[in-house]
Amino acid sequence: MLRQVAEGVLIHQSDFCQSNAVVVQGRGGVLLIDPGVHGYEMAALADDLRELGQPVVTGFSTHPHWDHLLWHARLGAAPRYGTARCAATVRNLLSDARWKARIAGWIPPDIAEQVPLDLLGLITGLPAETEQIPWDGPQVRIIEHQAHAPGHAALLIEERGVLVAGDMLSDVLIPLLDLNDTADPIEDYLAALRLLEGASGDVDVVVAGHGSIGGADQVHARIDQDRAYVHALCDAGVPGDRRAGPSATFGKDWLPGVHERQQQHLAQRRERDGTPG
Ligand SMILES: [Zn+2]
Repeated sequence: MLRQVAEGVLIHQSDFCQSNAVVVQGRGGVLLIDPGVHGYEMAALADDLRELGQPVVTGFSTHPHWDHLLWHARLGAAPRYGTARCAATVRNLLSDARWKARIAGWIPPDIAEQVPLDLLGLITGLPAETEQIPWDGPQVRIIEHQAHAPGHAALLIEERGVLVAGDMLSDVLIPLLDLNDTADPIEDYLAALRLLEGASGDVDVVVAGHGSIGGADQVHARIDQDRAYVHALCDAGVPGDRRAGPSATFGKDWLPGVHERQQQHLAQRRERDGTPG
């Protein structure tokens, strides 16, 4: 169930929204990025890694959304990291005594029982401007931006030619803007796409948080596709993007109507701010 996508980089794809957990082999064990969603999947992943003699030595969450913050006891007690802003956002969430109920509101009811929340979000924020994940393995560069969620990190494993994009560059989900925490979600998104574009010169494999793994020909195509969607949103146009339609993989049962909601929200903002168009 672990699939190699580049030398020393393996993926486990969840049944939930094609969520991709990423395993990077280091010297004394592995770095585990966004471990997964279902408890049984994370437990099986832990068992597979143990069988391979590769304990988890470091964890990382790309951004402060529930499906990227989970953990399972069997994965062990390695330090888990995120960017400082990601960790601060999570801390804020967990400081609310009703956080489990709040998170449960986001989880599709049919899988809620399978999602273990006890170890959710127990991450340490890396100091702002940290350039690499501190661990004993291939260098993993942190590309922090503010698209989709506060303190979102894409990760570039340069010597393996792999870009872990978090919740961007998906072939199944449209760009989901962070409409709550930001003054200019459109510009934040476009700025993040520019950062990814600048970093992706030698990337052969792109791993999105959800969806299929992209090869070298997909990296720029996916950046262009996301940019075209965001431009269409900001022009209040109708995007010619199959990911936005109800026939898209998750359009019907997960995040229903999210494209329409983003459109409405941005229209309200334009009205409020008096910006033309
Ligand atoms: Zn996600």
